[in-house]
Amino acid sequence: MNRQSGAILVLSGPSGAGKSSLIQKIKDQIGPIYFSISTTTRPIREGEVDGVHYYFVGVEEFKRDIEDEMFLEYAVVHGNYYGTSLGPVKKALKEGKLVIFDIDVQGHDAVQNRLSDITTSVFITTPSLEELKRRLYNRSTDSEEVILGRIEMAKREVQRISEYDFLIVNDNLEEAAEILVSIAKAARMKIPTFQINEFVQTWEAS
Ligand code: GDP
Ligand code: ADP
Ligand code: 5GP
Repeated sequence: MNRQSGAILVLSGPSGAGKSSLIQKIKDQIGPIYFSISTTTRPIREGEVDGVHYYFVGVEEFKRDIEDEMFLEYAVVHGNYYGTSLGPVKKALKEGKLVIFDIDVQGHDAVQNRLSDITTSVFITTPSLEELKRRLYNRSTDSEEVILGRIEMAKREVQRISEYDFLIVNDNLEEAAEILVSIAKAARMKIPTFQINEFVQTWEAS
C-alpha cells in the first residue's frame, strides 16, 4: 500500500557547508519532491534567479506577509529575513511529495513544533571550521564582512546538532550525496500519527 501523504526533509547547517550542492546532486534520485523556495530580504547574488533560488522581496513586503500569516516559519538569519510560505508546502504535501527545506536552526525548530510527525531533519557540515572558511572564500559570493558573520554564526549553529535526526559531514561530495539519498528515501516512510488508524483499518480489510 502506498503512503498517501507527503513528508518533510529539513536540511540545515552552516552557510557554505554544501547544502545547495548536495540538493542539486540528488534531486533526480529520490522520487517526487518539492523544493521549498524561501522568501528573503537579502540582496540577490550573482547567478541567482528570482523565483528559482529565492523570492527576493523588500523588508516592507516581508513584514506584510508576516502579518498576513503567509509563513509556515520565518527567522532573521545573518541580519536578513528568511521565510517559508505555507501555501506551496501544503499543496505539495497533499500531492504526496517529499518537501525539502534548506532552512536555519530556528526554522527547523519551528517546523519541528508544527509538523514533527512528518519531519526528518539532517544537519550538514564541513569536516572542520577551517574547511568551511575555505569554501566560503572560494565560493566568493559574499563580502568579507558577510563571510565573517557567517563563520561566527556557524560556530553557534553546530552547538545545536543534537536537535537533528542525522548528521552528514560533507567531506567527499559523492559520499555525502549517497547518504543523503538514503535518508531522503527513508524520510518518506516516516509514520504520520494522523494516518495510522486509517492505515490499520485498510490493512485489516484488504
Ligand atoms: P487544508 O485543510 O486543505 O488546508 O489542508 P491540511 O492543512 O489539512 O493538510 C495539508 C497537508 O498537511 C496534508 O496533506 C498532510 O500531508 C499534512 N497534514 C494534515 N494533517 C496533518 C496533521 O495532523 N499532522 C501533520 N503533521 N500533518 C498533517
Ligand atoms: P550552502 O548551500 O550550504 O551554503 P554550497 O552548496 O553553496 O553551500 O557550497 C559552498 C561551496 O563549497 C561551494 O563553492 C561548493 O562548490 C563547495 N563545496 C560543496 N561541497 C563540497 C565538497 N564536498 N568538497 C569541496 N567543496 C565543496
Ligand atoms: P543563504 O543566504 O546562504 O542562501 O542562506 C543563509 C541561511 O538562511 C542558511 O542557513 C539557510 O538555511 C537559511 N534559510 C534560507 N531560507 C530560509 C527560510 O525560509 N527560513 C529559515 N528559517 N532559514 C532559511
